[in-house]
Amino acid sequence: MGKYKLRCITCGKIYESSEVEYTCPKCGNRMGTLEVIYDYENIKIYREEFSKYENIWQFEKILPIEKGSYRTPLHVGGTPLYNTPSLAEELGIKELVIKYDGTNPTASYKDRASAIAITKAYEKGYDTIYCASTGNAASSLAGLSAPTKLKTFIFLPASAPIAKISQLFIYGAKVIPIDGSYDEAFDISMKIGEEKGWYCRNSAINPYLLEGKKTGALEIAIQNNWNIPDYLLVSVGDGTVISSFYKGFYDLYQLGLIDRIPKIIGVQAKGASAVKRVFDKGEPFLPDDIETNTIADSISVGKPRDVIKACKYVKASGGYFISVSDEEILSAIYELSLKTGIFGEPAGATSYAGLKKIAKKLGKEAKVAIVITGNGLKDIKAIEKFVKLRKIKPDLKAVREVIEEYEN
Ligand SMILES: *Cc1c(COP(=O)(O)O)cnc(C)c1O
Ligand SMILES: [Zn+2]
Repeated sequence: MGKYKLRCITCGKIYESSEVEYTCPKCGNRMGTLEVIYDYENIKIYREEFSKYENIWQFEKILPIEKGSYRTPLHVGGTPLYNTPSLAEELGIKELVIKYDGTNPTASYKDRASAIAITKAYEKGYDTIYCASTGNAASSLAGLSAPTKLKTFIFLPASAPIAKISQLFIYGAKVIPIDGSYDEAFDISMKIGEEKGWYCRNSAINPYLLEGKKTGALEIAIQNNWNIPDYLLVSVGDGTVISSFYKGFYDLYQLGLIDRIPKIIGVQAKGASAVKRVFDKGEPFLPDDIETNTIADSISVGKPRDVIKACKYVKASGGYFISVSDEEILSAIYELSLKTGIFGEPAGATSYAGLKKIAKKLGKEAKVAIVITGNGLKDIKAIEKFVKLRKIKPDLKAVREVIEEYEN
């Protein structure tokens, strides 16, 4: 038997990894996303073998990759985990740790997935890789494939933040900016990618991405000295990142390295809460798509591709979904920056907006982790209302007046 197998999230059928590339042929792309399952009993793994700030390849034993295949030389993962006791006290909870993924090579959580996708593209012998993206998966794939021989095609809404689009051109990707939504770009990319026979790095379709993303959960466990939080809050668009947090803790649990899994709480933007809607309707979970409207571009997803997994995993963890307004997201960006020095992009600070909303309910004994998934510099237009730039004449009197204003 190989190192891992693939299992359909809906029908439960188990496939050898050589039998199927993307999703369960019987259940299709939405219902038939695949889980990577390992032979947990036979994996020898110990807490002591991990270090706190090593990159994701330290988890090779529980990643679906072959020995000796391509590994990105960029430092993906090993991002900081900050303990913020005074903020926890202010919020009325016992402990708050903040996982900040804005320090990844292309400044978002997506690098964890792109790293695995590129390794798989090499293992499978492809020369071209593509993805559809709200922006970060795009810049991530472009950045990590830049030093490789792979050709990279990117489909994204032309309305994506200019910083993310700029990354694509700087990294030399072939850019297809669609005058439409992410959901439209996604469907078009799938058609073209299939026609061309390119390797697909699309959320939920490619089962290996989630395995890269789960490394964030593994790092939280290690960096927090195996003190597992009661709750973990993370923002949700397609639903892959949140699923990956459950999966990471689930793997550690199956391996006997931890004895419980945090309750996973998904935070969506009010104007794009498609996954929350499906979850709240209850089982059987079925896709139910919407039109979106939010400033948090990275989670502006109306047709979430990993909705089934996200709902099942969150339910299994004992968690739930909440939503926050754009106003709450903007205040969260500002407040988090001011109080911790961590500057998140809108979808990044969404988890903090969610925590502010429910901290009281979680209670005085709650140990909480939140994930800031992207760097604030990715989208500076969103925060322009905080930027009060005015020109001051280059003379001392004018400057003294301004300083006086600040001091009063
Ligand atoms: C992609 C992304 C998310 C959400 O991940 P999904 O897998 O789409 O749910 C959250 N924050 C940022 C910054 C992202 O780029
Ligand atoms: Zn199936």
